[in-house]
Amino acid sequence: MSDAAAGPDFRCGFAALVGRPNVGKSTLLNALVGQKLSIVTPRPQTTRHRILGVLSSAQAQIAFVDTPGLHAQAGRALNQAMNRTATAALEGADLAVLVLEAPRWTSEDELALARVVQAQRPAIAAVNKIDRVRPRERLLPYLGELAARHEFLAIVPVSALKAENIQDLRDTIARHLPCSQALFPLDQLTDRGTPFRIAEMIREKLTLELNQEVPYGIAVEVERLAHEDGQLMVDAAIWVDREGQKPIVIGAHGARLKRVGRSARLALNELLGERLHLNLWVKVRENWADNARALRELGLE
Ligand code: GDP
Ligand code: MG
Repeated sequence: MSDAAAGPDFRCGFAALVGRPNVGKSTLLNALVGQKLSIVTPRPQTTRHRILGVLSSAQAQIAFVDTPGLHAQAGRALNQAMNRTATAALEGADLAVLVLEAPRWTSEDELALARVVQAQRPAIAAVNKIDRVRPRERLLPYLGELAARHEFLAIVPVSALKAENIQDLRDTIARHLPCSQALFPLDQLTDRGTPFRIAEMIREKLTLELNQEVPYGIAVEVERLAHEDGQLMVDAAIWVDREGQKPIVIGAHGARLKRVGRSARLALNELLGERLHLNLWVKVRENWADNARALRELGLE
């Protein structure tokens, strides 16, 4: 570790990215760390786990934590587990980055802000998707209202998608972290291993492919991972929660599953820098999203 990282002015801590579903938390995590760590789709509730992304510089180390969207409708066991994951990440963080979507304020934003207040975390508001607001002056009344709603440490407008104002957000977060030496090795990026990243990438491609057809009923589990003949051999199970969903995921003559496998493989070849052979199987576990034991087995508790 360099001297700077242990010096008295070095800052380090956890910043939890929280907010309602679909505001762009995961896109923002990836933009902040400059790597695809968290999967992104146009659908709400894509992120199910806490995802750590560590960014180290000469002045600071920020441990970003991406979280599932905080939402009101928490009937299913899976939804409750996701809300719990987000709340726990918030409570364990030094500060909250409340991610919002300009220029709309919704009751779910209100709920997310209430959780931040409840957890007594100081908060920075990241107003995302400003690329969609034209002309930019339309942001001003929204930013004014935001400042009146809560005493944020700072309000930073950004576009995670177009990587606008991301450095400003990094600097603002770092400035508000405690003085501390680095908590992670300076070259560490995340705490998730290869099987997790493979499973998540498959789930991303599958979610993109399925549109609305199998709502939230999909989980992916890597069952085998081995190096053979200079290739990474992967067997992965796609869990659906009803027999009737199996043919939808497989598609006519297996076409859909093939497309998913292909796009996951290409993305993973690049992400892992290694050639991958991917075998996908669709399996049924009745109502897994309502079943606490199944959630635990799939690492969702
Ligand atoms: P999350 O549910 O909060 O993690 O949101 P995601 O990161 O999964 O993004 C949800 C959707 O919003 C995806 O379709 C993203 O491409 C899109 N999105 C995220 N950030 C931006 C942004 O800055 N601008 C625009 N136009 N779209 C964005
Ligand atoms: Mg997400």
